[in-house]
Amino acid sequence: MISETAIQLLIDKLGKENVITATEDLLVLGYDSTPGLHATPELVVYPTDSEQVQSVMQVARDHKVPLTPRGSGTGLSGGSIPINGGIVICLNKMNKILEIDEENLTATCQAGVITLDLFNAVAAKGLFYPPDPGSQKISTLGGNVMEDAGGLRGLKYGVTRDYVMALKCVLPDGSLLNTGGKSVKDVAGYAFKDLLVGSEGTLAIITEITVKLIPPPQDKRTFLAYFDDIRIAGVAVSKIIAAKIIPSTMEIMDKATINCVEDYVKIGLPREMAALLLIEVDGHPAMVAEEAVGVERILKEVGAAEVHVAKDAEEAASLAAARRTALSALHGFHRRPCWKTRPCPVRCLQKPLP
Ligand SMILES: Cc1cc2nc3c(=O)[nH]c(=O)nc-3n(C[C@H](O)[C@H](O)[C@H](O)COP(=O)(O)OP(=O)(O)OC[C@H]3O[C@@H](n4cnc5c(N)ncnc54)[C@H](O)[C@@H]3O)c2cc1C
Repeated sequence: MISETAIQLLIDKLGKENVITATEDLLVLGYDSTPGLHATPELVVYPTDSEQVQSVMQVARDHKVPLTPRGSGTGLSGGSIPINGGIVICLNKMNKILEIDEENLTATCQAGVITLDLFNAVAAKGLFYPPDPGSQKISTLGGNVMEDAGGLRGLKYGVTRDYVMALKCVLPDGSLLNTGGKSVKDVAGYAFKDLLVGSEGTLAIITEITVKLIPPPQDKRTFLAYFDDIRIAGVAVSKIIAAKIIPSTMEIMDKATINCVEDYVKIGLPREMAALLLIEVDGHPAMVAEEAVGVERILKEVGAAEVHVAKDAEEAASLAAARRTALSALHGFHRRPCWKTRPCPVRCLQKPLP
């Protein structure tokens, strides 16, 4: 139980507007996107800079109150849920992009910056930040780092870890740690940065992140291949990789997912198909042309029922967007009343939601 003294200390440091105590506000911050998991925090705080994060850590430590960091709560591992009660520290108000360094190809931002906002800001300068989790419109960079988020482009471009160059964070004793730097050869000493990536908020609270940027691909080609046997889709994936073609995206959807996504976005996906593959090749136009021929040939050789090539960037974006909705579509699926009486068709072993 948090004492009144601790609450007052937090109000003094952060301001009343950044310390949330109303039950209805606390309730909604006791969820993330992990189905069936909830725990109401005793208090929620919104720091606006690293010093305020240090103050919160200090109060939690001195008063022996559990502290759980939170970005946008889109995590799927329950990491931002305060299962031991105490304080939830939301980083969403720390949402400034501090620097886009076009000479060193890096960007530095506060931990609460939304993933897509960073992508758009660097794209406006002709640069590319590849990690694109399906939640990119709402997830924070801090959450991405702590979950080592991937995304549709992960096969070719890697995951968040591959782009984190430096972190500023607050340790459990309240001290600040700067780890890593803009130089690729900044490798002396312990790799604390690498330990922190993927640690789900258990080791420190990240306040600032420096990421690597790369030049954007000049061209891309998007394919949608349908299969009447999911095993053939698997063979296609293996053959494409064996042909030394690394698509930026190669995502599979099974029949249940196709139907959920079609219910959700209604873009005309064939409900009767056993599987589909969304494949995107990108890079230099000459390489894209060559790889596109290779992908199409392999898809036909293995016996894809139909291969559709996106006719323009708009159609390619809408196909990728459909794939990005898959998780939300599957969430909606569980809320359907009919699954109260029938087993879950995607065999997630969850009970239907009330
Ligand atoms: C629709 C949807 C699609 C998704 N698609 C993908 C996908 O394609 N690929 C993928 O890898 N994941 C995906 N995810 C899950 C993904 O991990 C999260 O979306 C995202 O990385 C979490 O960001 P967040 O800001 O919501 O963090 P939260 O959920 O708030 O927190 C995640 C974890 O990080 C910790 N944390 C958050 N911020 C900080 C901080 N500043 N310092 C210390 N700890 C912190 C929390 O304690 C928690 O343990 C998806 C989720 C959804 C709901």
